[in-house]
Amino acid sequence: MPCVPSTRWKHLKPKVKATDEIWTTLKVLTWTVGYLTEKGVENARREAEWLLCEATGLDRMGLYLNFDKPLQDDELAAYRSMVARRGKREPLQHILGNQEFDGREFVVTKDVLIPRYDTETLLEEAVRQAPQARTVLDIGTGSGCIAISLAHRLPQAQVTAVDLSPDALAIARHNAERNNAVVEFLLGSFFQPVNQRRFDLIVSNPPYITHADLATLQPEVRDFEPRLALDGGPDGLDAYRVLAAEAPGHLEPNGWLLMEVGSGQDKDVARLLADAGFDAIVTVPDSAGIMRVVGGQHHGV
Ligand code: GLN
Repeated sequence: MPCVPSTRWKHLKPKVKATDEIWTTLKVLTWTVGYLTEKGVENARREAEWLLCEATGLDRMGLYLNFDKPLQDDELAAYRSMVARRGKREPLQHILGNQEFDGREFVVTKDVLIPRYDTETLLEEAVRQAPQARTVLDIGTGSGCIAISLAHRLPQAQVTAVDLSPDALAIARHNAERNNAVVEFLLGSFFQPVNQRRFDLIVSNPPYITHADLATLQPEVRDFEPRLALDGGPDGLDAYRVLAAEAPGHLEPNGWLLMEVGSGQDKDVARLLADAGFDAIVTVPDSAGIMRVVGGQHHGV
């Protein structure tokens, strides 16, 4: 007779956890990769590792060295709740509470757009075109990532940042403090809070998603990131129309306006700038080759 375990005796099994039910680091990791993949999360392995690092306080190397060790109950509890949130497609950055941008950590919440790597293209171009800028204005600062990075990159400059959302401004202020940047934060819409002031450099990463595209965004963005930071109006260009029309009245002679744009918007935005009297119009690709930044210089009004 073949030696197969009989289910008849199952109820006689001692009530202790079988070895294979101990949640070692590796077992937890493997399970999570399957779970998150099933929920549609890309890069499930890397994300599972990040969440495990957060729950255990280990770094990635530490995780690998502890693959065979069981997780403590409190670690497992913390981890489970994070994985459940991620399974509902809440952004990893909201769960971890921060995102790196230009080598610095920024606190992020549901009130601010999560800083994107692509936006470093805007930063680089600003520094390239206006290295001597003494006054800088960031319209729609969100987490403050652009303004704070520029305050570091252009140490001679006085940086002012505006946002329509008081909740976003609170996060941005906190980010400036924790990154030792001096930035003047003002609440309001576009140029309204700066009155008649003029700047050498104006930057903005405004909302630029078209209404049609809003519904097609991945759930992390569509359901969790602030609509105010995404919605660019019916054709996605609403904010650029205001920026192009009003920036000249707030630029010093030969000042620069540089803006991030969405994929395929560069020509339309360049035309808006040309129509508003800008010249030296530049269009700059991001690292993926997508035209990501459009800007120009204005001789003054
Ligand atoms: N300026 C911020 C950023 O680049 C916010 C942009 C936005 O809310 N559209 O992250």
